[in-house]
Amino acid sequence: MDTLTIRARASAGAAAWALVATVQAQPMSTAERFGQDIDAQIERHYASVERVYKDIHAHPELAFEEVSTARTLASELRTLGFEVTEGVGKTGVVGLLRNGAGPTILVRTELDALPMEEKTGLPYASKKRVSYEGKETFVAHSCGHDLHMASWVGTAKTLAGLKGRWQGTLMFVAQPAEEVLGGAKAMLEDGLFKRFGKADFAFALHSWPMAYGEIGFNVGAVTSSSDVFEARFHGRGAHGSAPDKSIDPVLMASRFVVDVQGVISREKDPFQFGVFSIGSIQGGTTGNIIPDNVLLRGTLRSYDPAVRAKMREGIQRTATATAAMSGAPEPDVKLVPSGDATINDTALVERAEASLKAAFGAKVKRLPPITASEDFAEYGAAGVPSMFFLVGVYDPKDVEAARQPQGKPLPGNHSPFFAPVPEPSIKTAVKAMSLAVLSTLQN
Ligand SMILES: [Zn+2]
Ligand SMILES: [Zn+2]
Repeated sequence: MDTLTIRARASAGAAAWALVATVQAQPMSTAERFGQDIDAQIERHYASVERVYKDIHAHPELAFEEVSTARTLASELRTLGFEVTEGVGKTGVVGLLRNGAGPTILVRTELDALPMEEKTGLPYASKKRVSYEGKETFVAHSCGHDLHMASWVGTAKTLAGLKGRWQGTLMFVAQPAEEVLGGAKAMLEDGLFKRFGKADFAFALHSWPMAYGEIGFNVGAVTSSSDVFEARFHGRGAHGSAPDKSIDPVLMASRFVVDVQGVISREKDPFQFGVFSIGSIQGGTTGNIIPDNVLLRGTLRSYDPAVRAKMREGIQRTATATAAMSGAPEPDVKLVPSGDATINDTALVERAEASLKAAFGAKVKRLPPITASEDFAEYGAAGVPSMFFLVGVYDPKDVEAARQPQGKPLPGNHSPFFAPVPEPSIKTAVKAMSLAVLSTLQN
């Protein structure tokens, strides 16, 4: 599906409620009307939300294995009066709070952690190890999904606490397996919108290594599409001293790695984002044997579907031509699509932005899209106008120091040192998400 189709579908779905909002909206009214009450709710609940954060941080679980994490979130929602269903898309949780006539608003968090060692030295750092792909590995919440879960619980508490002031339905979704880009799809295939009703709008947030208190987003593509690349070059093995007896796959792989960047630099429009990186080359056993095959693995990222198609074609063509140049058999090339770009809906973003700007002022920024991928894109692709935004997690002083010429860069997501400052980060996230949701509800 291309971007235009997604946008057209999204606006068709939003039309009914967008009309209501256009007629009723008074600029900045959501922040003015709810700001202080949201703050009061956050102060009342914060201690319990931080306990959830630290507990989940210390007990991370890998993709599709988030059993006890899901149970924790489900019980939090039940206490607030949500109707809760567990085990959607394997380990996902769906909580509905029906509160009169109005749109259904989906709020997404991810449940999963990463197979890596945490090195933050925090008192609540994860020390957990599990078996993963046949090896023992550490597990850590180094992408901030624990912070998203705590903020999701905090937002549920805040909106439930203000239930007398808005109408509509909250659909709180805790999704498994974001890191492997499979969880959103699993929940949709398990009938998320068929069993629980289709959402009118969807929101998700992500922690990001910027100053806490800051909120960033854009319209259009905000995260990249992703294709998983794998190619095996087949040759003929021979003694290292007799290359004429071989068809050398190491030479083919080397040529391909260099030549394929010509697709990116010479064929793609230089104003359009697109990267192709090879992260793994595997071939041969020792120095004096020319192996008979080499396996390359990599990743392709882009925003625009036409750019993506062009790069896919160029990569395939370069691989085939590289083998032909050596007189080798056709290589096996796989380019498996693993996720679309997340498209932020313009009307939805503009409505939320007015409320966020009124509450946070200049700390709300339009930011360029990020080059990483996100399976939050799936809800948009299913026809739900969506907004994905970033929240900062570090002390503004540290962020400023890192910007200086000799400054030490702050650890980003997936770094073993990634260590958000919980209180100001979570409080900002809860307030921003509550305002974004309220900006779409009748109140
Ligand atoms: Zn991640
Ligand atoms: Zn993440």
